Parts: sequence; C-alpha cells; structure tokens
Amino acid sequence: VTDWQGKHVVVAGLGVSGVPAAKVLRGLGAEVTVVNDGDDDRARAQADDLRELGVTVRLGDGSTLPEGTDLVVTAPGWQPDKPLFTAARAAGVEIWGDVELAWRLRGPDAPPWLCVTGTNGKTTTTRMLASILTAAGLRTAAVGNIGVSLLDAVNGDYDVLAVELSSYQLHWAPSLRAHSAAVLNLAPDHLDWHGSMEAYAADKGRVYEGNRVACVYNAADKATEDLVREADVEEGCRAIGFTLGTPGPSQLGVVEGILVDRAFVENRHKNAQELAEVADVDPPAPHNIANALAAAALARAYGVPAAAVRDGLRAFTPDAHRIAHVADVAGVAYVDDSKATNTHAAEASLAAYESIVWIAGGLAKGATFDELVARSAQRLRGVVLFGADRALIREALARHAPEVPVVDLDRTDTGAMLQAVREAQRLAAEGDTVLLAPACASMDMFTNYNQRGDAFAEAVREIG
Ligand code: ADP
Repeated sequence: VTDWQGKHVVVAGLGVSGVPAAKVLRGLGAEVTVVNDGDDDRARAQADDLRELGVTVRLGDGSTLPEGTDLVVTAPGWQPDKPLFTAARAAGVEIWGDVELAWRLRGPDAPPWLCVTGTNGKTTTTRMLASILTAAGLRTAAVGNIGVSLLDAVNGDYDVLAVELSSYQLHWAPSLRAHSAAVLNLAPDHLDWHGSMEAYAADKGRVYEGNRVACVYNAADKATEDLVREADVEEGCRAIGFTLGTPGPSQLGVVEGILVDRAFVENRHKNAQELAEVADVDPPAPHNIANALAAAALARAYGVPAAAVRDGLRAFTPDAHRIAHVADVAGVAYVDDSKATNTHAAEASLAAYESIVWIAGGLAKGATFDELVARSAQRLRGVVLFGADRALIREALARHAPEVPVVDLDRTDTGAMLQAVREAQRLAAEGDTVLLAPACASMDMFTNYNQRGDAFAEAVREIG
C-alpha cells in the first residue's frame, strides 16, 4: 500500500500498539475504525483522544468486521482464531500486526533491523545489543516488545535498530526481513495462544525469514538451529552459533573466561577474535553470558569492532528484578529474580548459584515443575513456597528432592514475602544465596513482578 487516502483500515485493540497505529494511519489519510472488546474508563479516554483526530472507535465489540474493510491491523496479543479474523480471511482482507505495519511504512532511508526473540532473555539481550551499538558510535535505540513502538522509530534518525520481538508480534509480521536475527532459546510458553509447541516455534522462526547477513542460534538449543535450517534466507546469509563452550568455526563462545568470536574474524592471520571477559558481563551468570554472546553476534554481523563489544557490555546495567543482588546479610547473598515468571527462566537463575535457598510460587499458568526441580535439586539447601499454585512445586519437590527441607507458607497475601525471607534466612548457611526466582506469575499476590521484587528487597532490608 502506498496510497492510504480513503483506505478503510480496522485497527483491532486500543493500548500500546493500537493507539499509535490508529494515529499513524489517520495521519496518512486512511479512514480508521478502532474496534475494542473492552469498554472501561481507560478505553474510553483513549477513544476520546482518537475521535478528536477523526478516528471512529467502537468499544465493547471486537468481533464484527465493519463493512468495506480494506485492511485489519491488529494488536499482537489478539488470538488468530478470533471471529474478527475469521471474517477478514473469508473476505480476503489482509491482517497485519503493528510490527508488520511499521515494516511496510519504512521509507527508503529507514535503518535496518537487528532482531531478538526467544522464550527468555529478549529484553536483556536487546538492551545489551543497543549498548554495544552505541559504544560503536552508532545511532540506535532498543525498540519493539521492549515497550517502545516500532511505529515511532522506524523512520527515525538511526543507523540501525535493536528490535525485541515477541512470538505474537512475529506471528502477525509475515513480510518482515531483518538484517540479522537471533532466537535465544525455545521452551514451552504461551501455548494456549499459539495452539501447540510447533506453532509457537514456527512463529519464532519467522524472525529468520529473509535475513540478509546472519541467523544467530543457540548451539545448546537444537530447536533454534533447526529453525535456521528451515528458514528461507538471502544468498550469503550465514548461520552463526553461540555457545558457553569453545566455539567452532562460525560460532562465538567462551575460552578460559574470555568471550571469543570465530565467526567474524578481523585479522586473517588469527582464527579467533577476543571480545570481552566474562567479568565484563553483569551478572556473569551462564544464561546471561549466552545473552551477551547473542548480542555480540548480532553486533558483529553488523560490522561492529571487538572493542565496542567490550565497551558496550561494560556500560550495560541489567534492568531491575533480573538477578539483582539486593544485599548480603550475615554472609548470605539475597538475589531478586522476580522476572523469572516461568520455569525456563527460573532454571537459568538456579543454575547460576551453588547452594540456594529458593523462594518460589505464584500463578503457574499451566506449567509443570518436574524438570525444573529435578535439574536443580542438587543446588537446593531449602525451599520456601507461597502463592496460589505452590502445591504443584511442593509435589515436584517431594518427587525429585525429598531430602530438601520445604517451608510451605500457605499464604497468598502480600505480607507473605517478609515471612518468606525470614524463613529463608533461617534455612540459609553462610555462603548460600537466597534466591527469589518464583517460576510463576505474580498476579495472585502482587500487581506485577516489579512489586513482587520490591517487596522482596524491602523484606531483606527489614531482616538486615
Ligand atoms: P524476556 O524479555 O524474554 O522476558 P528478560 O531479559 O526480561 O527476558 O529476562 C527475564 C528472565 O528470564 C530473567 O529474569 C532471567 O530469570 C531469565 N533469563 C534471562 N536470560 C535468559 C536466558 N538466556 N535463558 C534462560 N533464562 C533467561
């Protein structure tokens, strides 16, 4: 579409993607109708703003396709089997997500995209990547699922964009063609939305379609490598692996505490390029070194020199509640990984410590805990449980770690956090780590994972 004048576009959903999409499309001259299931105060306020711009807004009915629709632009979270989409498909109307819209609106001088997706580590890796690009003197921004609309950035004054993409966004972005992209890892998540693990993986794999320079995969996660193999890429595009071990050719990895690159070697007389030290990565936990290698691979694919990788990693500070060291109390470290809202994430943070008192529980979102507990059992000194679905974790512990002491608080109120930290302190010995990595969502007890992490830090201050 180049001429939007008079085109009838239906925007599905208000909120962080719908509002900017409606504004941009209206600005291009399209006739825009926003349809939204909800009809609450927030929706009404957003609707009022849009109506002033000449946008039609229909609240309380996101199912019926208006007569004469030429195109649907949807919020990423809307499930593909919604009646609105069934009607659109039946009428031969295309459906784009907000990322697809941004991609289609790129002008001739738009910056290329370096894309990051995966089950866990997306935000961290995207921020690391932006930090490395900035250290290389490039004009860049971390955008996309990270909370900054691509519509605002796509034709901005940038050399290159660091783009975080969710599986939902990728589902709705069929024509996206990145410069380079990384899938960090693949573990079951959001399966209710995608319908199956295969469908979820396929949507993640879209990020590789049409890549021009590099498809970056996790050598320890075969599913990511399979996605590269299945992708249809531009001629000359390379598969680049990252590994926590010694890298093979076309890989980045770790040798004696040094992050090294064997894929993009600048000096023809060497077969590896040193990038940075493990100690330059904050925190230097295994999964986070993997994130750093993935970010480095994308930056190197874009031509960034080794020194900028080191400077960018050193300049990077992790976002709050992601393996944040809160305090040491009597020789015990207290670490907040409230952002570990699924089992795959919790497993990564449990793998980062030797002797752990683990605080866990909350909303399980249909997850099972057997694998997580079986793989982490050896590291557990003790466990403190709270939250709605704590029994699932307690039962997995009984099966796979029967000797580990478990305190089940039987509480789902906010105040449970202080009691949990007190119990954890009682279980911990000098040199241990008390780790909040709930493996669950927080909404049964807290507003969100931020509030849960803040409550933990507050409790640690109290006992300290
Ligand atoms: P996302 O944006 O994908 O949710 P974040 O970077 O915000 O990822 O990290 C979320 C949580 O996932 C972290 O708190 C940590 O527990 C875990 N995590 C981060 N990186 C990885 C990784 N590479 N593999 C597994 N878990 C990870």
